[in-house]
Formats: sequence, structure tokens, C-alpha cells
Amino acid sequence: METGQTPHISDDDVVIVQTSRVMCEGSGGALGHPRTYLDMGDDTSVTCKYCDRVFKRDPNAKPGGHH
Ligand SMILES: [Zn+2]
Repeated sequence: METGQTPHISDDDVVIVQTSRVMCEGSGGALGHPRTYLDMGDDTSVTCKYCDRVFKRDPNAKPGGHH
């Protein structure tokens, strides 16, 4: 008999950051990946193409200047 359980994406894959530009190198060790910089631009979140980790800008963070 099936349990009906469905896959669930953990909230642990979401990282709250203070700036729109973040650096990711995975979890380090065997699970790491080359260091890469992610820029959200005008968006409020960005997904790392290597490890699928999601970085979200802290809504309470101060604006980093204007353009
Ligand atoms: Zn990553």
C-alpha cells in the first residue's frame, strides 16, 4: 500500500542575504562547486545554477544605494 508521501523541497535550500550580489560555492567538500557570483539585478531572489540553492534578499535589508 502506498503512503501518499510527496517529495518536499526543504527550506534549508533557501538562503537569506543582505545584498543583491552573492557568492556561492556550494556546501564545500565533495558537494561544493566552483565559486560563482550571482546577481539578482532588480529581482529579489536568484537560484544558483550549480546547486539549486535559492538566495533571497532580506526584505528588511537597507537599499544598497540607487542607480
Ligand atoms: Zn551554489
